[in-house]
Amino acid sequence: MRIPLVAANWKMNGNKAFAERFFSDFDLQAIAAHVVVCPPFPYIPLVSQVAEDRERFSVGAQNLSQESSGAYTGEISAEMLLDWNARYVIIGHSERRSLYGETSELVAKKFVVAQQAGLIPILCVGETLQEREQERTLEVIANQLKAVSDIIESDTWKHSVVAYEPVWAIGTGKTATPEEAQDVHQFIRGELGNVGEQIQILYGGSVKSANASALFAQADIDGALVGGASLDAKEFAAICRAA
Ligand code: PEP
Repeated sequence: MRIPLVAANWKMNGNKAFAERFFSDFDLQAIAAHVVVCPPFPYIPLVSQVAEDRERFSVGAQNLSQESSGAYTGEISAEMLLDWNARYVIIGHSERRSLYGETSELVAKKFVVAQQAGLIPILCVGETLQEREQERTLEVIANQLKAVSDIIESDTWKHSVVAYEPVWAIGTGKTATPEEAQDVHQFIRGELGNVGEQIQILYGGSVKSANASALFAQADIDGALVGGASLDAKEFAAICRAA
């Protein structure tokens, strides 16, 4: 039995006042899903404080360094995230892959570093529009997953979350249909081997309260990774309630 999970990716948005206001407006009542909020790094302590007082609520980071310490200006280690009481970390978001040149090999290293430190990686995979049009969706996702599978023991997957985020659906207002997303989720579960049934697989890409229920009704969609709509506390709560 997989518990539904809804994660907010605030990206580089908001400020201290926004974060404080968000939690005065965000009502966890009637939400059965586990909720994770991933703010920009400076607001992790603030969200951690809120998390301490609430059940089924955790804080996550949007990235981490693959190194544990040293001369890596501007980087943040897994240990530092743990000091802030982060429990989850988004790994390999398509913006990190496309804007910061993160390869699947680097993403896999970060996955391992996060897990070894005791953080739960939310591994993002997904195809670009061009790859979809070339009918390479499953091949691209299989390769992104394989980069991780190649360097972990197969049952280590169970201490992780996978997010299927078609790149063409992120921040564009376009969503995969529930059936298209389900097909890819089912494929991902199969690729995760004998622990696949235990792993939460989230859908991400322009999820909002208006399309969340239809997505969550699919057998292999266990929740969502939400960008834009997670910046509105009431809208995000409505998505969480649908899970
Ligand atoms: C994301 O960036 O992970 C995301 C899913 O964004 P949006 O919901 O805005 O498409």
